[in-house]
Amino acid sequence: LKLGKVNLHRVLSDIVLLQKNACEGKELYLQQYFDPSIPPILADEALLTQLFLNLIKNAMEAVGTGGVVKVTSRVLADYALTQKGERRARMVAIDISDNGPGIPSDVLENMFTPFFTTKSQGTGLGLAICQKIVSEHRGMIRVDSGPSRGTVFTVMLPLVQ
Ligand code: ADP
Ligand code: MG
Repeated sequence: LKLGKVNLHRVLSDIVLLQKNACEGKELYLQQYFDPSIPPILADEALLTQLFLNLIKNAMEAVGTGGVVKVTSRVLADYALTQKGERRARMVAIDISDNGPGIPSDVLENMFTPFFTTKSQGTGLGLAICQKIVSEHRGMIRVDSGPSRGTVFTVMLPLVQ
């Protein structure tokens, strides 16, 4: 883990720009909504790039023509409490949402397992790697998904400066 000051929004907007170019011709919308008050965070920039690239690629692969993928950053307002009731540092949350078909429950249960994939050309490694990177940063990853709602992956990272 090579920790340094990382400008989260630069990392995210670089990925968004790169992926916009990669999908040129396909009808797909990539949007970003950033909270400008979020300061640089202490993180491994290369690993964060891999983390968000995996999630954004999955979202782009999930949506069809006219699909929308949104990348949003926000500060979690309150101090999170751990299970022991200790105060945890303030966190930043990054949501990657798509209006694809949502994730069926049998996939939800297995998708973080290495080599689990539903794609003919998939490696099944993307989410396993994401989970490892998030835990190395003492963060959390959550998913909220439903057939009519699409999917939101939320990455929470400690706001240590
Ligand atoms: P891969 O993309 O190579 O299949 P991942 O670990 O990135 O491997 O994802 C595992 C599986 O989780 C995918 O095959 C897919 O079924 C499911 N998945 C991940 N993200 C999404 C999403 N945004 N919408 C629907 N399904 C998803
Ligand atoms: Mg993937």
